[in-house]
Amino acid sequence: MKTGTCRCGRRIFFNNHSCLACEAILGRCDECRSLTSFTSHGEHAECDVCHTSVHACENQNFHVCRSYVSDADKLCQWCQFTAVTPDTSIPQQVSQWATMESAKRRLLLELHRLSLPPYVDNLTESHPLSFLFLADTVDEQGNEKRIITGHDQGVITINLAEADSVHRERTRVELGEPQRTLIGHMRHEVGHYIDWAWAMQVDPEGYHALFGDPQAIDYSQAMDHHYQNGAPENWAENHVSAYATMHPWEDFAETANLYLDIMAIATTANDQDRAHFDLSPQADMPKLVNEILQIVVEASEYNCDLGLAPLLPEQLPPAVIEKLAYVHSLRRHDTAPA
Ligand SMILES: [Zn+2]
Ligand SMILES: [Zn+2]
Ligand SMILES: [Zn+2]
Ligand SMILES: [Zn+2]
Repeated sequence: MKTGTCRCGRRIFFNNHSCLACEAILGRCDECRSLTSFTSHGEHAECDVCHTSVHACENQNFHVCRSYVSDADKLCQWCQFTAVTPDTSIPQQVSQWATMESAKRRLLLELHRLSLPPYVDNLTESHPLSFLFLADTVDEQGNEKRIITGHDQGVITINLAEADSVHRERTRVELGEPQRTLIGHMRHEVGHYIDWAWAMQVDPEGYHALFGDPQAIDYSQAMDHHYQNGAPENWAENHVSAYATMHPWEDFAETANLYLDIMAIATTANDQDRAHFDLSPQADMPKLVNEILQIVVEASEYNCDLGLAPLLPEQLPPAVIEKLAYVHSLRRHDTAPA
């Protein structure tokens, strides 16, 4: 993640909300889109970069956001993507919501930076994107309504329980996943969004050649088959995960998830002056992947030193790199064909 700079010169990290050195208020300015410090003037504040007079995003009332906007009583650009928020009278749901919004902001910032798809704002009319953060409920008759995490035509639903680390770890073990994170869920689901809103608009032929034709395979049959029989033994030769073998849609979403993971690591490495990766749409993807994997091997060693999971797979087969290059190529289309 890119860092910002406080007016005192200290670096600002994504989750900081006040400067440890000069105690300035920190956050993201909706006007100039900087991660910066603000000068407080009672009711309002002034952005230290663009000097606009700003107010706290309305969601700061619930401590789920750190943005500042020019109009009072308005939501910031990031909070506006959330169509349904949890029940704010339940404190546990508010804290889970804050965890959701933090992961969502990280995701949207990355999509914005990569223009993948050409920023989601520009698809508002044809392919709007929104998020629903919902909890399982039980009605008066004792009927349970379970929320299924997933994507449907631009609407990403995430079960609030996924913000709970105990729930995530239990599910991870049950499903035999190497990792289960909130940002990973968001990247996977937005992968389905990119598939629907962009890949299918600009390059369906390239998609079919690599992932298969999703319309030719019945999704619910494919799901039943996957949960009954598991993935083929040689899945790692062509797929990024066992789950990706289930259906072309899941293959694309898992690949997009890994692409966003790789670009996030590369952005951090550049921002920390650790590397000078070319992250433009024209960048050579196989070369970039190989360079990032060297960082992954090193960082995974640090993780193992502390008993944590490896960062990402340390090797990727040529077939997966080709699929990653396809996701990357989607950034070279700046307008969809009519
Ligand atoms: Zn400071
Ligand atoms: Zn500003
Ligand atoms: Zn906000
Ligand atoms: Zn999926």
